[in-house]
Amino acid sequence: MTRINPTFIQVALVVTFSMFFTCARNPVSGKRELNLMSQEQEIAIGKESHPSVVASMGLYENKNLQAFMNEKGQAMAKISHRPDLPFQFYIVDSPVVNAFAIPGGYVYFTRGILAHFNNEAEFAGVLGHEMGHITARHAASQQNKQLYSTLGVIASAIFLPQAAEMAQQGASLLLLKYSRAHETQSDEIGVEYSSKIGYDAHQMANFFGTIKRISDNSGQSIPTFQSTHPDPGNRNVTVNKLATEYQAKNPGNYQSNRDNYLRLVDGITYGEDPRQGFVEGNMFYHPELRFQFPVPSGWANQNSPSQFQMGPKDGKMAMILMLAKGNSLDEAAQNMVKELSLKVSESNRTTINGNPAIVLISQQQAQQQQGQPQQQQDPKTATQIATWLIQYNNAVYALHGLSAASTFSDAFRTFQNVAGGFRALTDSEKINRKPERVQVKNVPSDGTFSQAMSALGMPAARLEELGTLNSMKATDRVARGSLIKIITR
Ligand SMILES: [Zn+2]
Repeated sequence: MTRINPTFIQVALVVTFSMFFTCARNPVSGKRELNLMSQEQEIAIGKESHPSVVASMGLYENKNLQAFMNEKGQAMAKISHRPDLPFQFYIVDSPVVNAFAIPGGYVYFTRGILAHFNNEAEFAGVLGHEMGHITARHAASQQNKQLYSTLGVIASAIFLPQAAEMAQQGASLLLLKYSRAHETQSDEIGVEYSSKIGYDAHQMANFFGTIKRISDNSGQSIPTFQSTHPDPGNRNVTVNKLATEYQAKNPGNYQSNRDNYLRLVDGITYGEDPRQGFVEGNMFYHPELRFQFPVPSGWANQNSPSQFQMGPKDGKMAMILMLAKGNSLDEAAQNMVKELSLKVSESNRTTINGNPAIVLISQQQAQQQQGQPQQQQDPKTATQIATWLIQYNNAVYALHGLSAASTFSDAFRTFQNVAGGFRALTDSEKINRKPERVQVKNVPSDGTFSQAMSALGMPAARLEELGTLNSMKATDRVARGSLIKIITR
């Protein structure tokens, strides 16, 4: 929640696109396929979706990494099935280990995934996989489904976010909702493209091992909503085999470039950036915007530049904090009611810890689909919303509590406790909290990975996390002087 963009829900909803049906030749398979959109349509969708991605995650600035990504991305575009597409590459400011692509040539890596690669070849493999989704037109050929889970999460946020979707934060993954067949094809393309620009695709296979480890460490198997994804363990085996076959057919000198890559990620932000808000001891703190409010115990949460969402694991209710549009409470209330099509049943003025506020109780009216008759809303299944608009520090914040109408009165007490705890953040220790960073060091002496971490002052409790970050096991041998990642503040 730093670069707040109040219009972003509208943007996201616009992006849930109505589709175009045409027929075109698939650039990878060479087959004519019904339902493919034209290249112009793909580019238009990318252009329209990109601002939502930026609004929901923010961009992470790093000149050297960006230059490296552009160079490898353009080299790969040239040898790809669609060299004429205007590919663009971005680093998004998220600690989640993920990469994704949207039609029209937009490819995104999180800073979390970049921190977890251990050489250029791993990066190139994932780059090839993501570009493969674009060149093989996977999104275009399954247009009736919800395409972009990132955008799906945003769009569903104002309805009822499912706890499972919020839990994805802890998991990992190349996670757009493509079919298994598409994922498998993208893995094949990843091997081909990364090999063609000179990298050893066995490293791409190795990275699926890292993904599996992150997923195991987070204590959750692949969430059910990602069940269309092949198991990362199997992908590891399959991709290794493909890499071996490719190199047998095309003998050459395939590179990994470990040291060069590690120097690029030296200093990259690791994990959550507390300056953009963090949860600790059942409290959400926002150091830059200087406020705090309680998080009910056991709730999952997800923070982004434009909003903070939280809810119980059963998904029966949810709360969302965002910036309201307007300079006064009244203006903000009017804008919100109009833009979210709210039917207001109650509206009261109050103060919350000294800050003027309005509480609104409403229901969201069903959106009318184009060309379809207005649907009647069942009052029992309708989503009931309690909104606290709070004026604080020259801004108006909207704190929404959402639940089914049938369970709203119970949920309302929880919402009220959270809203009532909204107050100024004054604790300087919280305000000045710094993010952790990856630092690249030389191994001080020959020994095991575990010994090296301890010699570099890393706590034993974080050995598995550090092992995952370095793609090493505790007992792996490391040589004096070789490069290794540690975590510092
Ligand atoms: Zn994929």
